[in-house]
Formats: sequence, structure tokens, C-alpha cells
Amino acid sequence: MRLIILGPPGAGKGTQAQRLVERYSIPQLSTGEMLRVAVATGTEIGREVKAIMDRGELVPDDVVNHMVSDRIDQEDCRRGFILDGFPRTVAQAEVLTAMLEQKGVKLDAVIELKVDQAALIERMEKRVADTLAAGGTVRSDDNRETFARRLDEYRRKTAPHREIAR
Ligand code: AMP
Repeated sequence: MRLIILGPPGAGKGTQAQRLVERYSIPQLSTGEMLRVAVATGTEIGREVKAIMDRGELVPDDVVNHMVSDRIDQEDCRRGFILDGFPRTVAQAEVLTAMLEQKGVKLDAVIELKVDQAALIERMEKRVADTLAAGGTVRSDDNRETFARRLDEYRRKTAPHREIAR
């Protein structure tokens, strides 16, 4: 099973992907999570993207395209995968199409999650409250100002082109 989950920040892509991971025993490929790990571990990519992510902007297409291509080649993706947070631009969608063709694999479905804006902000604030209550570390881009920027990036760069992924 090869799936893409699309949707604005806070829509629940990660939550739904986790359910599918359990159900189908295939990995969740979250570009946001891969980038957060790169930032946390201080890799070259991490140092390149930290400021961009902290502003709530999209990182360069090349960076995520390579990450996804390398990840899909790993053994655990042979039976399938769930792409969460990729593609987010037309260039990424085009690279993904070419990449899958070259690797000889086909997508089974693209799932789009739609949630209204007020609910998205509430969910982000709940995620922050839950994380703090559990003694965890809040994502540096989960605050009102950066979240607004992330929503705006989705509205401008991803949402108008959603049909390309279908
Ligand atoms: P997410 O965890 O999906 O909300 O992503 C967190 C942040 O990582 C985004 O605000 C972007 O800065 C970056 N990011 C994740 N996926 C992508 C992508 N496909 N293209 C560009 N930037 C991305």
C-alpha cells in the first residue's frame, strides 16, 4: 500500500498516518519529522534548514526530494509507505512522479484532510498544552505566529495545486 496524506498543518496527518502504520505495518515517511531529526542531531542539512523551519516556511525542494528518494529506497519501504507532508509544491509532486516511475512503484491513493482554519489553530494549541502537560518539548514552530506562517505557506504553495497529486 502506497499512500500520500495531504492537508494543512494541524489537520491530523501524523495521527491518521500512525493509525495506518499500525493497520498495514508500513512506515510513515514524514518529511517534517526527518527534518526535525536532522536539526536536533545537527547534521549539515539540519543546520541549513533550522532557521527556515523556525520561520514556518518551506525548506528548498531539493532537500526534501533527496531525503524522500533515499528513504523510499530503504528495505522497510518495499511493501509500501505513507508519505506525510510530502509533496507540498508542484516541483516536489513532479519529482515524486518521476521518482516513483523510475523505481517502478505506483501510488494506491492520495488522501486529503480538510479542516477549517479556526479548528487548526485550536488543535495546534491543544497539541502544545498536551505536550507541556506530559513534560515534553514543544515544537519550535508550534506557536501562533509561526503557525500562521505555516498555514499561509500551505494556502499559497500547496493547496492551489492539490489536484496534481491525484
Ligand atoms: P510538518 O511536520 O509536516 O508540519 O513540517 C514541519 C516543517 O518542515 C514545515 O513547516 C517545513 O518547514 C518543513 N517541511 C516539511 N515537509 C516539507 C516539504 N515537503 N517541503 C518543504 N518543507 C517541508
